[in-house]
Amino acid sequence: MSTQIILKVLALRHRLRQRDRWTRRQLEAHQTRELRLLREHTYAHSPFYGRFYKGVADSPLDGLPVLTKEMVMEHFDELVTDPTVRLADVEAHLATLSGGDELFNGRYRVASTAGSTGRQGLFLWDPGEWVTVLASYNRSFDWAGVGAGLTRRTRMTVVSSTTPWHQSARVGASVHSPWVPTLRIDSGDPLENIVERLNGFQPKVLAAYASMAHLLAEEQLAGRLHISPSFVFGSSEVFTEQARRHVEEAWGRKSFEVYAATEPAGIASECDLHSGMHLFEDLVITEVVDEDNMPVPPGIYGEEVLVTVLFSRTMPLIRYEMSDSVRPASSPRCSCGRPFALIDGIQGRAEEVLRLPAASGGQIAVQPIVFHRVMDAVPAGGWQVAQGPEELTVLLSGVREGFADATLIDSLRRELKAQGALMPSVKVRRVQTIPRAAVGKAPLIKSDLTGREMLRRKP
Ligand SMILES: [Zn+2]
Repeated sequence: MSTQIILKVLALRHRLRQRDRWTRRQLEAHQTRELRLLREHTYAHSPFYGRFYKGVADSPLDGLPVLTKEMVMEHFDELVTDPTVRLADVEAHLATLSGGDELFNGRYRVASTAGSTGRQGLFLWDPGEWVTVLASYNRSFDWAGVGAGLTRRTRMTVVSSTTPWHQSARVGASVHSPWVPTLRIDSGDPLENIVERLNGFQPKVLAAYASMAHLLAEEQLAGRLHISPSFVFGSSEVFTEQARRHVEEAWGRKSFEVYAATEPAGIASECDLHSGMHLFEDLVITEVVDEDNMPVPPGIYGEEVLVTVLFSRTMPLIRYEMSDSVRPASSPRCSCGRPFALIDGIQGRAEEVLRLPAASGGQIAVQPIVFHRVMDAVPAGGWQVAQGPEELTVLLSGVREGFADATLIDSLRRELKAQGALMPSVKVRRVQTIPRAAVGKAPLIKSDLTGREMLRRKP
């Protein structure tokens, strides 16, 4: 669609590339300046922050209180800096999205996220912010060495959510252009169908949720998938060692891990030296913290991540909490010379692969995306799938009136059958809030079974 947007993204990409050659000192000066501008704008235009920061408005960043998604949603109308933006109207707009590049109030792009606490969040970006979102996603391709970026005709396949209110679908709708022939596949489609379409399209770049990249590598190794991508990107989920190994075995090249989320867009990404992921510190300040919100030392996994999105203006996000557990690298510098610090592990997007009895006997591993696919279609504020010894329990909070649990159970049955799993006994419970675990996390998909219990289970 919009050539104008693509030109702006290209211009920004040029500026972002120059930052690869900055010194650490230049980067820090830039961060300081951007943070000051963000705080000035926020204090001037967001009534919520005025109250939230009462008495601490002048503190350094690490002295400011942590912002949660629950707070963002609860105080939405006062948090946004455009007084004409109202949550009720944004929700109504969201319901009308049909996969195009639709704008709210003629100006904003909107996306929603369930995120790792299961509570739905709504986020919006003005045209300038959106260009930065697009450029930030493009940076991952750029750092990997996909020379084409947005201009040369590189065949790309993105296997992710095509649900119209997901940010990945919004990004796809914005950059759709004849320059980048892109095949977008919904990760919820049956695997055979995905394989068939990939065989037909023969992408040079494959970008997928990490668990999907893994499944596709296994399909290639099994001889059903026949593609030869030059670049494979895995995002949005933990990219396990095994998944990486299989990708390398399947296509003879190392995969690139991308750490991104709806709210900040790109957070970190690998360069072609694969020595960890460089944080996008010029766009987002990422604090890796323990349970007391104190920074963790290099080499240690944090409990969560606090992001300050330096380019956020419509919805300022300062020390916004994300329940990902990441590890700052022990050796913070990469020989590529980029000034951006490294993280070398993500262990928690806090989701588990569940093992269920298989129709053909034995057990089968059901990937998180299978449940996402079902739950994405449920009009609930929050959800959690928990596996117990006898049954699966699906918790739902804030369910829209008129939704029947039977619909959910039906689609779960269909999906699990397509995976080759036997339908377990499923209990749906409506709850006020999704409970958090002792560490404060509320994983979307979890198993309460210990390893031994799993072994004991009869298929
Ligand atoms: Zn590097």
